[in-house]
Amino acid sequence: MQYDAIIVGAGPNGLAGAITLQQQGLRTLLLEAKPTIGGGMRSAELTLPGFVHDICSAVHPLGAGSPFFRQLDLQAFGLEFVHPPVLAAHPLDDGSAGALYRSFDYTAAALGADESAYRSLLGGLYRDWPQIDKDVLGPLSLPSHPLMMAKFGLTALRRASDIVKRFNTQQARGLWAGIAGHSMLPLDHYTTAAAGCVLMLAGHHHGWPIPKGGSQSMATALAGLYQSLGGVIQTDTYVKSPDELPAAKAVLFDLSPQQLVSIAGQQFSSIYLKQLKRFRYGMGVFKIDWALDGPVPFTNEACRNAGTVHLGNTFEEIAHAEKAVWNGQHPEKPFVLLAQQSLFDHSRAPEGKHTAWAYCHVPSGAEKI
Ligand SMILES: Cc1cc2nc3c(=O)[nH]c(=O)nc-3n(C[C@H](O)[C@H](O)[C@H](O)COP(=O)(O)OP(=O)(O)OC[C@H]3O[C@@H](n4cnc5c(N)ncnc54)[C@H](O)[C@@H]3O)c2cc1C
Repeated sequence: MQYDAIIVGAGPNGLAGAITLQQQGLRTLLLEAKPTIGGGMRSAELTLPGFVHDICSAVHPLGAGSPFFRQLDLQAFGLEFVHPPVLAAHPLDDGSAGALYRSFDYTAAALGADESAYRSLLGGLYRDWPQIDKDVLGPLSLPSHPLMMAKFGLTALRRASDIVKRFNTQQARGLWAGIAGHSMLPLDHYTTAAAGCVLMLAGHHHGWPIPKGGSQSMATALAGLYQSLGGVIQTDTYVKSPDELPAAKAVLFDLSPQQLVSIAGQQFSSIYLKQLKRFRYGMGVFKIDWALDGPVPFTNEACRNAGTVHLGNTFEEIAHAEKAVWNGQHPEKPFVLLAQQSLFDHSRAPEGKHTAWAYCHVPSGAEKI
């Protein structure tokens, strides 16, 4: 065997898998179809020279907060996280905004009439998070703190639309909708509360940082670490069949179910093949990048200082928009997730200029049209 394992796809998961195996002293090869590594965490000058845009991922609560990534010394390979003072802001049509800050207490206090509701929803989980984050974010296994995990599950498995009833102010309700909306599910589906809880808790403990120089610098740091361990990367290599791969004991695919079927379908059992073919894809995204003459002129101060701004107004409007997308429709007012990287990382745009990045969810498959 030439390799112990070949990993196909150099997205964050492919790189993480390759590093894990290489750390065990195995010989691995990482193959990537594109000329650059990183998958969804690549950056490029997509608009004008000097404006660096993130192609997909921009803000990394879990890049900073994942127990796996935390144990890697990515700083030694050039990764620097920049922390916006406001993690996420949620403006409303009346000019006010709800906001998520790094500090749990400050966030709760800023929600005014909903301070105690925020504390009762997340206070205990905030204290437990360092003990349970590995179990929550890792593969399913027996939890190391079963009682704490049970407490987390009792909240996280619920519907965001039930949890929101605890809040009275539009600011807290909107903030919760925007963050739970990262689940890419209608907010009345069970488990949608998990996305809200995890992203808020990770934010309070580790922030919602952006990588200096663009998300590509996370990919570059992961690749640097992997290569320092002896791993081999080959780009511009689009794998079409396992037959064209060098001999290896195992092949790991960092791909979607449909891609896996087209590459290696003939090697799987009929049951597994059926499962892969039945996989239901979630919503797609429609994204725009802007090269700007100045910052986005938000009137609300929290929005001017936020790395991420959720545009969708009230809980009900966001829930309506997400439900419509799930049902295959394009809503009149989609829920938009906007990031303003250049406010906090001046390497992203020429002096005095700015970038913005935003996407909304679209019906599954619509992004390919
Ligand atoms: C618009 C948008 C915004 C996002 N924003 C964020 C965000 O702010 N924060 C966040 O945490 N997440 C964000 N995400 C999600 C994040 O990008 C993904 O979760 C992440 O990229 C998934 O990583 P992955 O390694 O599983 O797959 P991918 O990143 O998709 O990597 C798969 C890799 O496999 C390669 N490949 C495919 N087929 C082959 C083949 N046949 N042979 C060889 N190589 C192949 C691809 O080129 C790619 O490099 C965003 C996603 C989108 C689309």
